[in-house]
Amino acid sequence: MAIVRPFRALRPRKDLVERVASLPYDVMDRKEAKAMAKGNPYSFLHIIRSEIDFPSSTDPYDKKVYKKAQKNLKVFEDDGILVQDDVPMIYIYRQVMNGNPQTGFVASTSVDDYVNNVIKKHELTLLSKEKDRLNHFDKCDANTAPVFLSYRNNTRLDEILEQWTINNEPEFDIVTDDGVGHIVWPVNDLKVCDEITEIYAGIESLYIADGHHRTASAAKVALQRRIENPNYTGEEEFNFFMSVIFSENELNIMDYNRVIHDSNGLSVEEFFNKMEKVFDIEETKAPYKPIKKNVFGMYVNKKWYKLDVKEGVVDHDDILEGIDASILEQHVINDILGIKNARSSSRISFVGGIRGLKGLKAKTDELDGVGFAMFPVTMSEIMTVSDSGLIMPVKTTWFEPKLRSGLFVHKFESFASIAVDGEISLETKEYIENTLAVVNHKDGNQNEFVQAVTEVLHSLGPVLDQHPEYIDNNILERMIEPERAIQFRVPWVDDEGSTQVNRGFRVQFNGAIGPYKGGLRFHPSVYLGLIKFLGFEQVFKNSLTGLPIGGGKGGSDFNPLGKSDEEIRRFCVSFMTELYRHIGPNTDVPAGDIGVGGREIGFLFGQYRRIKASFENGVLTGKGLDYGGSLIRPEATGYGATYFAQQMLKHDDLDFKNKTVAVSGFGNVAWGVCKKVRDLGGKVVTLSGPEGYIYDPDGIITQEKIDFMIQMRANTNGKIQDYAERFDVEFFPGVKPWVREVDIIMPCATQNEIHVSDAKQIIKNGVKYIVEGANMPTTNEAVALLHDAGVIIGPGKAANAGGVSTSALEMSQNSMRLSWTSEEVDLKLRGIMKNIFNSCVRASNRYGFGYDLIAGANIAGFTKVADAMIAQGKY
Ligand code: NAP
Repeated sequence: MAIVRPFRALRPRKDLVERVASLPYDVMDRKEAKAMAKGNPYSFLHIIRSEIDFPSSTDPYDKKVYKKAQKNLKVFEDDGILVQDDVPMIYIYRQVMNGNPQTGFVASTSVDDYVNNVIKKHELTLLSKEKDRLNHFDKCDANTAPVFLSYRNNTRLDEILEQWTINNEPEFDIVTDDGVGHIVWPVNDLKVCDEITEIYAGIESLYIADGHHRTASAAKVALQRRIENPNYTGEEEFNFFMSVIFSENELNIMDYNRVIHDSNGLSVEEFFNKMEKVFDIEETKAPYKPIKKNVFGMYVNKKWYKLDVKEGVVDHDDILEGIDASILEQHVINDILGIKNARSSSRISFVGGIRGLKGLKAKTDELDGVGFAMFPVTMSEIMTVSDSGLIMPVKTTWFEPKLRSGLFVHKFESFASIAVDGEISLETKEYIENTLAVVNHKDGNQNEFVQAVTEVLHSLGPVLDQHPEYIDNNILERMIEPERAIQFRVPWVDDEGSTQVNRGFRVQFNGAIGPYKGGLRFHPSVYLGLIKFLGFEQVFKNSLTGLPIGGGKGGSDFNPLGKSDEEIRRFCVSFMTELYRHIGPNTDVPAGDIGVGGREIGFLFGQYRRIKASFENGVLTGKGLDYGGSLIRPEATGYGATYFAQQMLKHDDLDFKNKTVAVSGFGNVAWGVCKKVRDLGGKVVTLSGPEGYIYDPDGIITQEKIDFMIQMRANTNGKIQDYAERFDVEFFPGVKPWVREVDIIMPCATQNEIHVSDAKQIIKNGVKYIVEGANMPTTNEAVALLHDAGVIIGPGKAANAGGVSTSALEMSQNSMRLSWTSEEVDLKLRGIMKNIFNSCVRASNRYGFGYDLIAGANIAGFTKVADAMIAQGKY
């Protein structure tokens, strides 16, 4: 999936654009470059072809030439000829040639994507040419020219291009001396930039159309700098290079014609005899330009011919063999004219299609050789070759119009942040503090809720600074107030025949982006403030998944511990007898949480169906497989958290192999984590309950141990000591597992299980990663301490979003009335977790927090909901 992100371009001052913009560095020789820049000190050629500022005798690859480019770029900046944008943006660049427009995005793209073949190539590169641009980019500390990329058509990106260019004035609109129009719009709305980034994140491959050398050089600069900066995060701008990205539909590929300088010693007759074995040959009265594939024009001895490839010469099932340039190369240039390597031969010249048949004829006459006119290759052929990992014959594509250089420069030190934490405006600061004061005033006794709100709001300063509309619409105060909070009586009869009463809750926190969705928790600690904290977190979590689900949460202070199955059933029936009127497949879709697993969901669904007299299995998720449940749902939260952890490790070039993990709890989430960590080559060595923790140095990796966890979870009298007894491992009463020296900590029990004292121990033990399977397991004070010590925290609202994501997949299966296989669900889950991780990284970088997954999760979750709220009026 492709990474395409905004950057702060260095761009020409508006009144100088026409003088700065130049043709690309590689389409002219030194003499032509010098002539073009003559009398124009603003020409960008002084940077990309800085040898023109030296006498012709100077070696263009001399160190001083690159130094001059660096100096000239600095002068351009210092003199205000080029000015850097304050905020990162994506840009739209339109070129118009002969009335035909081609419009694309200018953005920064990832070196890792190039290395990992997400950005695909179809050409070989020459080391000498790579070295030239490597030296140039490195010295300039910038990409001075964009790479030309393409992608398979995407309707939404087309719409964005259309809407933005219709509704916004261009920044400049010039026509260069070759008659080509160049129009640029900066997309200065971060939400639109975010959407573009999101769409590309779903696009599998980008294709290099032109600029293989520039890309290879940019990648080498990045790899070199990574060695020089061993603590690089991967987010520094040198890990990215500037590209102009056009949809395949937009591109105009021209023919790229060939002239062979001699006829390889063959007489005219011999030459034609050989050619006739490959082609049907017909002399034409006028210069012949091919109008379809497998047909060529030939100019020899002042005469033009049409060459039609004979039946059976080409194996059309072979991707490369069917391409015209390959046919010519193999059957004519190689077999008949004796050139073994077209790439390096001095007996062949190439004439770009822009020069027309006239140019081909002139070059052929000049050399007294043989000219071949080609039919242009298509973008689809290029993509097929690139997808197959093959290489096109040399010089097959001639793109017109050429991208102008100097319109955008991508500086490597221009980190894509727009504000630095702590530097937010006074107005924003006041707004956040006032909102927190409101929470404290109204809900000061709801500690967990205040804690969750405080953590989120403190990440949002730079976003509010950039988007005053959020303050104008008083979004924060609206967001901290649930749309609805329902509290109800739940009377039920115990096994002794006594009537018991519990409290039930459902908080429908925010439905701006979809039906409320969130679990039910049955635990004695449940009260309104706890459900509000969970509901508030759920809003951001659900938004982060990228799925259309709003946030809600519910539960009861009912304690399932020690209750019989019948008591639990009677409680669930009573609970649903009130809850049913507030929920529905399109209104609010609860699921499980602490104390609510498959058994409870079954009882709840049975009562709902009975009251409604209708089979609406989309009303609850986490159901049994027989009545609409999804495979993998029980494991999903743990699996998802492990996939998230995998991304965090991958970010640091690590993986799970031989890693030890300390887990708390022994419930649903802990179980999923144990399984997936084992699958990925690591081992969980601790589990815990309220009474203490167990340490299993061999790891919870055998099926027997993993199955035993399910039994413990299902047994309402189950205790963590049971594991110690069963597998003869040590139990540490009254102690948390965080005392252990492990590689990764994954709290999977409950809120606030890592306090300041635990954090100190964790830091002392040298643990580098905490991945929150539970909701808000770390106090805000502990987070601050861990953060300062460099411990990377994957926050619950992102890391444990796999559960709700799979619930949403369950809803999809229910509405489509089909079931996906475990592999299908697991694959989708992995993709969702990767996307969530990437969204967090992007958002945190974008708003100046660096690599901070907590801030990233809060910001990425917030903006989508806030925008939807504004769009829906004052609700
Ligand atoms: P669960 O199956 O009920 O498991 C919770 C486990 O934590 C139980 O083993 C419980 O032991 C233990 N525990 C409770 N309080 C503890 C404490 N103070 N110290 C140590 N252990 C304690 O619940 P779950 O579904 O796994 O949920 C765990 C966490 O993940 C919660 O924060 C939940 O909100 C979050 N979460 C769950 C899901 C999901 O899909 N299930 C999704 C997202 C987030 P006892 O049974 O002995 O109390």
